[in-house]
Amino acid sequence: MSEAQNPFKIAQKQLDLAADILKLDPGIHALLREPLRELHVTLAVRMDDGSIKVFKGFRIQHNDARGPCKGGIRFHPDETVDTVRALATWMTWKCSVVDIPLGGGKGGVICNPKEMSQSELERLSRAYIRQVCRIIGPTQDVPAPDVYTNPQIMAWMMDEYNAIMRQDLRGVITGKPLELGGSAGRGDATARGAMYCVREAGKVMGLDLQGATTAIQGYGNAGQFAHQLGEELLGLKIVAVSDSKGGIYRPAGLDYKAVMAHKKRTGSVVNFPDSQNISNEELLELDVQILLPSALENQITQANAGRIKARIVGELANGPTTPEADDILFAKGVYVIPDFLCNAGGVTVSYFEGVQNAYNYYWKEAEVHEKLDEKMTAAFHAVDQMAKKHNVHNRLGAYLVAVARVADAVKLRGWV
Ligand code: GLU
Repeated sequence: MSEAQNPFKIAQKQLDLAADILKLDPGIHALLREPLRELHVTLAVRMDDGSIKVFKGFRIQHNDARGPCKGGIRFHPDETVDTVRALATWMTWKCSVVDIPLGGGKGGVICNPKEMSQSELERLSRAYIRQVCRIIGPTQDVPAPDVYTNPQIMAWMMDEYNAIMRQDLRGVITGKPLELGGSAGRGDATARGAMYCVREAGKVMGLDLQGATTAIQGYGNAGQFAHQLGEELLGLKIVAVSDSKGGIYRPAGLDYKAVMAHKKRTGSVVNFPDSQNISNEELLELDVQILLPSALENQITQANAGRIKARIVGELANGPTTPEADDILFAKGVYVIPDFLCNAGGVTVSYFEGVQNAYNYYWKEAEVHEKLDEKMTAAFHAVDQMAKKHNVHNRLGAYLVAVARVADAVKLRGWV
């Protein structure tokens, strides 16, 4: 990974820009550039063939001045400690920008879940919790799903934690199945929150979203639900989608039910009937009105930002755009809804899940949607106004809102 594409260096650089405008106290700035705590773990897991495989994992807590750390766990072959550091840092800003009383954390295990059986994944998940249980808990640090982890994995992790603690502490993890204390509305919350942001962006730009052509990169939890909800909530016309194997393009529009069924059957969206196969790179540069990067980091860079044609870029992924690309998109007048605002719906409903677990009383889905909409809409406009006030791009606007709140909490606690 080049220095320019190191997500943690990027996260630090983004903070530096905000610190400069905020005239942040140098001590607070220095503290916020680094995670507070890191746990690196080694996991020995018995594989189905009887052999033992050793995996490396991490749990990183960036900052908990505003509340317990919060953030997902990623299972990915390309996971690095610096990726987890960056993601933990972005979680601090994410929880702050939507104004929920939580800090930032993230976990990761270097593994390829696509090559593992369910029982191997269960043993890996439980082994991970046996190692990180010493630093997580409902009032310390609360993990959740992220790339290639899901509600079943959360269920195993919660169960392992409760067995170790000998108590029902289901609030230790969010994104759980409904049967085990998950929240209504958590499944599609990331995409739903992003659609609320796109709706608001349409308003501030005076853009009619009905039938607006849209391309989605990534077809995991965020991308799939963005396809469905983009159509259902906003009437977008999704003309291109992709996954790690490649993309498909159909100018007349792609039906989400048919594409999801095709992916389920074949393992990929590629070769969907009556559409053209395209690469992930081509998808980003399509002549569409809305682009929704919903996969991984570093997709829009100095190399391709000049060729992005979309008017709105809604980042459902974490870290899809590099700082150089931010400047290029801003100069072109592209309206970017930055990642830690655009994809904050997931953690917001995770927060609601934690609240419901603490009460042991559960809300209806409509109530969750209403509360989510309120949070996302308020955060969206706070960022939009901040960016306009300082004449900076929306990412920097989002940093100004989020960092100031964390800095206040750090100062009030007397840490610096
Ligand atoms: N992994 C998601 C994110 O990056 C959700 C985190 C959470 O729910 O704690 O925001």
